[in-house]
Amino acid sequence: MHNGCPSELLLIRSLTNYKSSPWQDHGELQVQNTNDLSGNPVTDIQQFISNYNDSFEFEIIIPDKLNKREKLIYQQTPDILNIFGGKPKKVKEIKISSTMRKDFFSEVGTLGCWDESTNSIILSRKTLKTISDYSGTLIHELIHAKTGHHDVTREFETSLTEVIGDFCRKLVEK
Ligand SMILES: [Zn+2]
Repeated sequence: MHNGCPSELLLIRSLTNYKSSPWQDHGELQVQNTNDLSGNPVTDIQQFISNYNDSFEFEIIIPDKLNKREKLIYQQTPDILNIFGGKPKKVKEIKISSTMRKDFFSEVGTLGCWDESTNSIILSRKTLKTISDYSGTLIHELIHAKTGHHDVTREFETSLTEVIGDFCRKLVEK
């Protein structure tokens, strides 16, 4: 399944207003008596997500093509990964894209994405404006990749809190 951005899954979860035990062991959603935005019944939520994700293509930029300022930030990637505690095994690549999938409802481009189907983190070129933007978004996606938790869940919040605590400990103990 194209499990593009976890945030989109969550939006679709709220969109379809599912009832109990939505997640099956094999990661499928159980959807009953729901309609999509056009009022058509949603019978296959995976197909719905798949169509949505398939309608989008990233425009991956090779690091050589970045401008000087962007390169300086991008080159910090190994250091950020070190601070995080290393690159999670699941993550094969960290890529930069000049286009990002739009948020399902707000139509605003997302800044980052953990793409499970290709084991890659894709970050918007826009994040390369500042080290804070870049590292914040990268770490957010690293937590998705490492934990498998989705946006706006208690589990994801807990993981974020743990990482913040860990970073502060490293700063305080320096
Ligand atoms: Zn997220």
